Amino acid sequence: MNPLKLAFLAGQRFVSTMHSDSIGRATRWLVTNTGGRCAYVHELWVCEQGRLPSKARGGATYGTTFVTDVAPWKVGRDLAAHEKYHRDQQWNQDGLLFPGLYYRAEVIDVWIGGGCNRYEAAAEAASNGGGGYTC
Ligand SMILES: [Zn+2]
Repeated sequence: MNPLKLAFLAGQRFVSTMHSDSIGRATRWLVTNTGGRCAYVHELWVCEQGRLPSKARGGATYGTTFVTDVAPWKVGRDLAAHEKYHRDQQWNQDGLLFPGLYYRAEVIDVWIGGGCNRYEAAAEAASNGGGGYTC
């Protein structure tokens, strides 16, 4: 690969990872300051939401942090593997663009196509169905 392109991609990944980490830290701050609690389990930051509703379906990953409505230690390895895929391969890859890409896929793949969101399908494939999606 062209060294300039390689350097550009490495820089892009670095910036996206910084975004992802900042979003994860901000999420943990918001959750713990609205009555929730966070812990590092299965090599993933997991938060149980407090008064601020901040998750859809079984939970949502914001940057490096997964927010759900159960205690962090109740999150199993399979679900953690699914969420770590969102963190490592999607948030860290696309940074601040990821939420927009995710919701675009939600419209195209789920609302219009009637199938599974491509980002969820990828996370499920990587975690042997750890997220529990049936689509
Ligand atoms: Zn997911």
